[in-house]
Amino acid sequence: MNLIFATNNLHKLEEVSTMLNDSIVLFTPSQRGITEDIPENQETLEGNALQKARYIYERLHENCFADDTGLEVEALNGAPGVRSARYAGDERDMRHNMEKLLCDMKDATNRNARFRTAIALILDGREYFFEGEVKGEIMRGKAGGKGFGYDPIFRPSGYGISFAEMDLSEKNSISHRGKAVRQLVNFLNQCAG
Ligand code: IMP
Repeated sequence: MNLIFATNNLHKLEEVSTMLNDSIVLFTPSQRGITEDIPENQETLEGNALQKARYIYERLHENCFADDTGLEVEALNGAPGVRSARYAGDERDMRHNMEKLLCDMKDATNRNARFRTAIALILDGREYFFEGEVKGEIMRGKAGGKGFGYDPIFRPSGYGISFAEMDLSEKNSISHRGKAVRQLVNFLNQCAG
């Protein structure tokens, strides 16, 4: 089955590609001639994921899915949440986003946080949703050079290292996106079977 993954984030593409079996072949929007930024201006992760998937489906009429992820911090009442990409400004600079978060959390003793991913799938015109989350803590500084986004400052519960210190397969085995993608794959396998 061919599926368009509505993302231009190559890190996400790599994470998801390694989890799919051979029967699913992923394509990116740019491989189908869609090179512009896909709009995501909804108030929820689910809304953004659906907006991105619909954007692709309306243009290509091909089966597709999109994900949206937010980092929700207890001490900040769930922020940055759906605004995680633009936490420090519209330029979506991850160094600035992490610095702002570390600064906002400077005096916080409650470091609890979670990543949450929503996936919207459009299959033959029908819409389906999948979700995954991982709980953890915001660290006091950055650690590790792997992964992307907020990975250097997020330590998943039960682990002594950040996401950015983990190999891709280890991160995928416990992560928000890993859990959501496994649900997506199970669903697609059922459809195929
Ligand atoms: P989006 O899903 O691409 O909109 O991501 C929202 C924000 O969360 C961006 O700043 C991403 O860099 C960040 N983000 C998404 N997924 C992850 C992840 O797996 N680890 C760390 N940060 C992430």
